[in-house]
Formats: sequence, structure tokens, C-alpha cells
Amino acid sequence: MGKPTGFMDYARQDKTAEQPLERIKHFNEFYTPLSKEEQEIQGARCMACGVPFCQSGQNLMGMASGCPLHNLVPEWNDLIYNGNWEEAYYRLAKTNNFPEFTARVCPALCENACTCGLNEDPVATKSNEYAIIENAYETGYAKARPPKVRTGKKIAVIGSGPAGLTVADMLNSRGHSVTVFEREDKPGGLLRYGIPNMKLEKQYIDRKIKIMEEEGIEFRVSCNVGKDVKPAQLLKDYDRVVLACGASNPRDIKAPGREAEGIYFAVDFLKSTTKALWSNNMELKDGDYISAKGKHVIVIGGGDTGNDCVGTSIRHGAKSVLQLEMMPKAPDERAENNPWPEWPRICKTDYGQQEAIAVFGKDPRVYTTTVKEFVKDKKGKLCKAVLVKLEPKKDEKTGRTVMTEIAGSEYTVPADLVLIAAGFLGSEDYVTKAFGVEVDGRTNVKTASGKYSTNVKNVFTAGDMHRGQSLVVWAIREGREAAREVDESLMGYTNLSVQ
Ligand SMILES: Cc1cc2nc3c(=O)[nH]c(=O)nc-3n(C[C@H](O)[C@H](O)[C@H](O)COP(=O)(O)OP(=O)(O)OC[C@H]3O[C@@H](n4cnc5c(N)ncnc54)[C@H](O)[C@@H]3O)c2cc1C
Ligand code: SF4
Repeated sequence: MGKPTGFMDYARQDKTAEQPLERIKHFNEFYTPLSKEEQEIQGARCMACGVPFCQSGQNLMGMASGCPLHNLVPEWNDLIYNGNWEEAYYRLAKTNNFPEFTARVCPALCENACTCGLNEDPVATKSNEYAIIENAYETGYAKARPPKVRTGKKIAVIGSGPAGLTVADMLNSRGHSVTVFEREDKPGGLLRYGIPNMKLEKQYIDRKIKIMEEEGIEFRVSCNVGKDVKPAQLLKDYDRVVLACGASNPRDIKAPGREAEGIYFAVDFLKSTTKALWSNNMELKDGDYISAKGKHVIVIGGGDTGNDCVGTSIRHGAKSVLQLEMMPKAPDERAENNPWPEWPRICKTDYGQQEAIAVFGKDPRVYTTTVKEFVKDKKGKLCKAVLVKLEPKKDEKTGRTVMTEIAGSEYTVPADLVLIAAGFLGSEDYVTKAFGVEVDGRTNVKTASGKYSTNVKNVFTAGDMHRGQSLVVWAIREGREAAREVDESLMGYTNLSVQ
């Protein structure tokens, strides 16, 4: 363990965030990490408790608690406390293919299940993870390690998000020859064209892709499987195909006036900013992207994607930002029926919302509210939105509680730009139909429980396309498990470890 009395001797210290009014002037990550010495002290706070929930990755009351990758958190906390940064990296890399991504974007399920967090601040595990991986890059431990022997087996991975990248990384390390097909111009999936730069600067994806290429993985970008390449050809050319195409089908808002000019899906909006920044040396040029500059913006959806839209709109220079959430506000503290180490169902004020508060003087979130109608001007441009308040009511037929409009509660607000961040419905059917894979009621690709092989011979699946919209850490976990199953099906056994 770190230091036996570390959790009593030292307080939690975490990376510091640049002040909201300063950080909105740029699109870069805005945390200043601790020094190596300070981070070692944070490692000392870990008690290596008898039951380290931080690494359990268990399901409690339908929500994950602890790290889904079973990262060996107490082990690397101890290693950094003792200054053994190299070994800490190998322990971290044993269970996590991409700590450079999770250490930036993971909601840190580990910290919410940390025993220290039962009655005081949890161990700063996510920052420790960040320090370990960034130190590994600086010192050169994080480098290409190509397999010594090739098996002669060929794998096609469709989709280069965290799930596809994990499958590729694992199977390549086993000596199989892996080609990743990606329809976008660059690999990374939602890491690249969903999650904004402020949370994950894109050069960190390129840094890892370069290593993966040096290790022998081939990336074929701007190649849309099901359109540019036919599944039958892939199944002929490759021994196994893994579908990791994400859950990219956005949920729409069906309200009158939806066709008005100025209504976009969140990912299209975020992607246009990322692309424009990347192609213009991190500067935004008018006309190159979907702009919120000088506009009244309404973000529909109170989740993390909605928050990313709020932060991005503010950086564009929006006139006002409103974020609509259908559900009531969550409590500020854990409710009695939501004890530790369950995932805390509390109101989180994320970076975009903090920035909105700093710029406009109030929280952008409006709860129990949705859009009833989009109003357009004579030219077909969005100019207003009619909002309506909602209340929970029991549906007589199903017995389920549903959010229902309160008659007479409508009000109108100005709106020039609406961003729909209302979640995703599942996989896109041109891919699933082209391969003939079965999907479930949510259009996720169907497999037996805990399995990754589909109904089509030699075709496997992983990530959001399989489990539905989720998190990067789950995509990595799925990628590791799917790779194991693929390897076993090819070789008759596998020595790839999931944990
Ligand atoms: C705006 C936004 C912010 C998010 N923020 C976070 C966060 O902060 N933390 C977190 O943990 N999670 C976050 N998520 C969720 C997370 O990004 C996803 O759960 C994760 O990326 C899923 O990984 P995946 O590999 O399954 O799919 P994806 O990342 O969606 O990758 C799928 C890839 O497949 C490609 N593809 C699809 N069809 C084809 C085809 N036919 N041929 C070739 N290529 C194809 C797509 O272009 C894409 O690149 C966020 C999601 C969004 C939308
Ligand atoms: S991957 Fe996420 S949950 Fe796991 S240790 Fe890292 S920050 Fe915690």
C-alpha cells in the first residue's frame, strides 16, 4: 500500500483548472497537472483497502461502480508513492490499452467507489493515471513493441473508435495482421470527432496511432465499409471481421418546425469545430464550421454531450446558451437510497456549465422542460422556440412514469441555433444489413450474453455498436474481451488477458 497513514497525513490535491473566463479564450485542454513529487504524495493516500472497490467494476443498482477495466489502482498508487514510475506504467498498461484517453475523459468510476471517499475526499486516481502515462511518454517507456512472431492470420476491424483500436491493439500484439477501416479522414472515432479538444487534444490520438502503426497495424481511412468496400470481399480477404462502428444514430426531436435552418445534431456541430480547428492551425475561420457566434443557442439534452455543446458554443461567442433537460434536477448530495460505493446520482456542474455561469451569471440548465415547437422566419431560418414544462405522470397502460407536458406552461424564447444532444438510438443499419448481423430492439448488434460473436460466421462486434451508447472505458473493456474471443476462435486457445 502507499503509506499506511497517508490518507490521514495528506489531503487530496488535484490538477488545477484554468479559470472559466480565461479558458474560454482557447480550445485546448485546461488543466495544469501536479508535479511528479506532488503526485507521489497523492499515491500515498491510497490504503490498498481489503476490498478495493475502486477496481471492482461491478454493477450496483444498474450502474457501474469501480473501474470497468479492473485497473490495478492500489498497485500503481503504491508504485508511484515509492517513485517507481516505470513499473507503475507496466501495471497500468497491463489492463488499459489507452490510459492517455481514459486519464483525460473517463468520469473516474474508480474515484466514486474509493474507500477514502466514504467519509472524505477520494484518492486522486485519475490524475495519478494521467501522470503515469504522460511520464511514460516523456521517458520513452511508452513506445512501439511490435510482435516478434506473426501468425499469418488476418483481421479486419471496422471502426477506429476506442473499441476498434483496442481490438486492433490486442490482436496485433498476438501476432495477427490487423487492418482498421475507418470512414472518417482520421482514426479515433468519437475520441476525435465527438469529444471536444478541451477534453482531449487530438495530437494525443495521433501520438498513439503512430505507435500502433510502428507496431504493424494498418489504418485505411476514408473507407466506408458497406459502401466503398463490400462485406463479402472483407470476409474473403480476412480470417475474422470485427464490427466496432459505434452507436452513431442520433435521437431526433420530433416537433413542428424541425426542418427550420439552424437545427443540428450535437456531434455534427462538435465535429465541424474540431475539423475547422485542426485544418486552420487551431484558429476558427468564419464559414468553416457551424458557428454559434452572436447566436441564441438552445442545447437539447442535459448530459455530457450537451455540456460539450455548451462549452463549445461559449468559445464561439454565443449571445446566450440555454440547456434543456427533461428530468428534474438531481440532488446536490447522495440521497439515502444511493449510498457509497454506488455511482453517485447527484447534480454535477461540468466545465461548460461552469463557463456559462461565469459568462452569463447563471446556470444554463433548465429542468423538466422540452421544446414544443421550432419557429422559423419567412426565409425558413430558426428564430424562436416554444418551450413547455413537464411533470412526471404514471402511464395508465404501461404503469411506467413518463414526463408529461403541463398544459398552459408554454413560453417562447429566442433561438438561432439548436443543438440536439438527446442521446443515440444505436447502430446504423446500412452496416448491419450489409453484413446480415442480427440486432436487438435497440438496434445494438446481438450476441449471446457476455459474448462478442454475431450470428454471421467469423463476424464479431464490440463497443457502443454492441452495448449501446456508453463510455470510452467500456469501449476498451469490450474491445479487450472481443479480442480474446477472436483470438481463441482463431488459435484454439488464447493468452490475451482481459484483467
Ligand atoms: C460528444 C460526445 C462526448 C463524449 N464524451 C465522453 C467522455 O467525456 N468520456 C467518455 O468516457 N465517453 C464519452 N463519450 C462516449 C464515448 O465517446 C463512446 O462511448 C466511445 O467513443 C464508443 O467507442 P466505439 O469505439 O464503440 O465507437 P465510436 O467512438 O463511435 O467509433 C466508431 C467508429 O466507427 C466508424 N464507422 C462507423 N461505420 C463505419 C463504416 N461503415 N465503415 C468504416 N468506419 C465506420 C465511425 O466513423 C467511428 O470512427 C462521448 C460521446 C459523445 C458523442
Ligand atoms: S480508466 Fe477510468 S475508472 Fe479506470 S482507473 Fe482510469 S479513471 Fe478510473
